[in-house]
Amino acid sequence: MRIIAISGGAAVLWALIYATKCVRNPLAACRPCAGTGTRPERQLLRRGPRILRWIFKVPPRPCRRCDSTGRRIRLGRRAYDYVRNLQQAGTRSDDRPGVKS
Ligand SMILES: [Zn+2]
Repeated sequence: MRIIAISGGAAVLWALIYATKCVRNPLAACRPCAGTGTRPERQLLRRGPRILRWIFKVPPRPCRRCDSTGRRIRLGRRAYDYVRNLQQAGTRSDDRPGVKS
């Protein structure tokens, strides 16, 4: 029973820290390029003659995931923005209290 309470507390603490991060710094480093904006060069052949390894080499290229910015929007912030946009889209301007049309 005690372990459940401890892990529940840790989950709540993690959620609070993550929510704070999403508010204060909504952008994080892109994971595929590790925040550099370019994907590193890749070897398709790990062994064999050097000429074949040179032919089957993928050169460094711009990261498509983040459009070479090296930044991505955190998942929690994206969810928050989605819910906020949905709420704003579903709210008529004359429904808001205190707003007279
Ligand atoms: Zn990237």
